[in-house]
Amino acid sequence: MTSYKELGLVNTKEMFAKAVKGGYAIPAFNFNTMEQMQAIVQAAVETKSPVIMQVSKGARNYANATILRYMAQGAVEYAKELGCAKPQIVLHLDHGDSFELCKDCIDMGFSSVMIDGSSLPYEENIALTKKVVDYAHKYDVTVEAELGVLAGVEDEVASEVSHYTKPEEVIDFANRSGCDSLAISIGTSHGAYKFKPEQCTRDPKTGKLVPPPLAFDVLHAIEKKLPGFPIVLHGSSSVPQDEVDTINKYGGKLPDAVGIPEEQLREASKSAVCKINIDSDSRLAMTAAIRQYLAEHPDHFDPRQYLKPARENMKKMYIHKIVNVLGSNNKL
Ligand SMILES: [Zn+2]
Repeated sequence: MTSYKELGLVNTKEMFAKAVKGGYAIPAFNFNTMEQMQAIVQAAVETKSPVIMQVSKGARNYANATILRYMAQGAVEYAKELGCAKPQIVLHLDHGDSFELCKDCIDMGFSSVMIDGSSLPYEENIALTKKVVDYAHKYDVTVEAELGVLAGVEDEVASEVSHYTKPEEVIDFANRSGCDSLAISIGTSHGAYKFKPEQCTRDPKTGKLVPPPLAFDVLHAIEKKLPGFPIVLHGSSSVPQDEVDTINKYGGKLPDAVGIPEEQLREASKSAVCKINIDSDSRLAMTAAIRQYLAEHPDHFDPRQYLKPARENMKKMYIHKIVNVLGSNNKL
């Protein structure tokens, strides 16, 4: 058993309380590689932002659980080296799908876990979440639960259609499960293809897809039921069109990729939404930079040559999100 406290990590309790009160949201960036980790830490330190580094089950399989844990410890030490005296870094499991996986992560030094029972019947979701909460709280680890179903595909998580969270269920769910934060479904979606073209309208000038708006009425109804309770949005990449265009220009093929407009995320950040998950945007920023670099330098083959601009491009994107969308800068 390794406690996250020995690794210099923190849980989400205090940072969420401050974020809800302060009207901003904490960035939750997924990572699988060293370059992503470096970019996340550099961005968080430069903007003086708390940050959640999250790992999906797929990332654990890709990078290895032990390596990821020490990368998170390395992130804390790296942040200090970059001049941040007291970094606020969470290592979080994204979409835990069983008690065993959550327990394994807690035992290996994660400071926060998500148990996603959203595909289960309501009572089973509560029972599974409570089981994880009972174990996690013994070690001061915070637990995110999910109620409602998001559409889209991300690693092992996939659903054809979304079901909005029912505001009338949230009090009972939060009380009986004991979760510390709740992921809700209000129209965000996993992946880089968040909406089908037929769900969108087209901008007559640019021909680009305009996605349907988020269900702010549902969010506000939930906030009223659970005042001050930390709410989480998954599937909240914006799928920046310039990155998609760069990918397509240099040999990629991502037609009609579409995300959540940043104005809507900015508005959500000001509410009880205190954690916003961003994964696809980092993938797009990395891939766009690598495709462009390799196309422009066909004679280069040292991975550092193309991973360096990829890291820079991700860092730029992370800083933009922190400062211009989530508002978590200058909070350390
Ligand atoms: Zn998710």
